[in-house]
Amino acid sequence: MFLSRLLRLPSHGMAIDLGTANTVVYVRDKGIVLNEPSVVALEMRDGIRRVKSVGKNAKLMMGKTPDNMQVIRPLRDGVITDIDVAEQMIKHFIEQAHGGRTRLPRSPEVVICVPSGSTTVERRAIRDAATNAGASKVWLIEEPMAAAIGAGLPVLEPVGAMVVDIGGGTTEVAILSLRGLAYSTSVRVGGDKMDEAIAAAVRRKYNLMIGETTAERIKYELGSALAPDGEPKTIAVRGRHLVKGMPKEIMISQDEVAAAISEPVSQIIGAVRDALENTAPELAADIVDQGIVMTGGGSLLHRLDEALSRATGLPVVVAPDPLMCVAMGAGRALEDPDYRAVLTAA
Ligand code: ADP
Ligand code: MG
Repeated sequence: MFLSRLLRLPSHGMAIDLGTANTVVYVRDKGIVLNEPSVVALEMRDGIRRVKSVGKNAKLMMGKTPDNMQVIRPLRDGVITDIDVAEQMIKHFIEQAHGGRTRLPRSPEVVICVPSGSTTVERRAIRDAATNAGASKVWLIEEPMAAAIGAGLPVLEPVGAMVVDIGGGTTEVAILSLRGLAYSTSVRVGGDKMDEAIAAAVRRKYNLMIGETTAERIKYELGSALAPDGEPKTIAVRGRHLVKGMPKEIMISQDEVAAAISEPVSQIIGAVRDALENTAPELAADIVDQGIVMTGGGSLLHRLDEALSRATGLPVVVAPDPLMCVAMGAGRALEDPDYRAVLTAA
């Protein structure tokens, strides 16, 4: 039965990491072919919402749209907040990954990773979106499992491994062994909460309103999980003054940003500590040996590895290419028969 299924594998299977911030698509025998923000710009015309653009172009419009337009992130908090739009986005990316609708192969097999907090209704919507886009068979993979495979952890062996995947909307913490999740939890804290915390601090301290794109840029340039040791770096930030209503520029420093994001950072660290406290002793022993591997864009926050290592007393490493791990792992599960068992039919 397993062999016959293998023999029927179409050559154009794909794996999709449907992230809250970014969607990454892996195509069988090709590797990663698409990496775009999970963002959709909609236009209202005659009371009907139409998709105007998807991905990078839609993200560029964030915070800059006229009244008749709206930019949304349909998976924002790790759950699908707008199923219709999510479905259109998935269709768009599947078609784009195949180089446009016309070249869509007849029946690709699609593996999709979804945030582990998603409901049955959401999973069904994802399956329908993929089916509508031409998928013959839809498989789901647990996100932390995909992240662990992509990071090269020994998930098939009787060895405990811990992965912490920090995305935009959620952080997934999991302990894996023998193709399964021995422990997993998902908290709604990730890069977005850091951006919001930065925007809130700037508003409170300087009466300056900034958009989420600006807040994210401040995080990239100055963000750190630990307060700086030396002279803190500063950068200029522009926004709108709350009282005067006029555009204004202020200077913000590294230690202010570190203080602003300390709350979400400690929530992430707290989720990891909870997981460790709930681990069976044999697995815990393995983790002492192997340490913790971080994946996802949030793991790139400056000195987060160091902060997590201090808080747990364990070695912590950021996986190579952390934003690609989930898609790479899901792609591996699609291609490599040894990993097939981690997929479930949608
Ligand atoms: P998701 O899986 O939810 O789509 P990603 O793994 O793509 O999320 O990570 C996106 C998040 O990572 C965003 O919040 C982004 O701001 C953050 N991020 C990306 N690069 C960095 C960096 N160098 N420093 C801090 N945060 C980063
Ligand atoms: Mg992710």
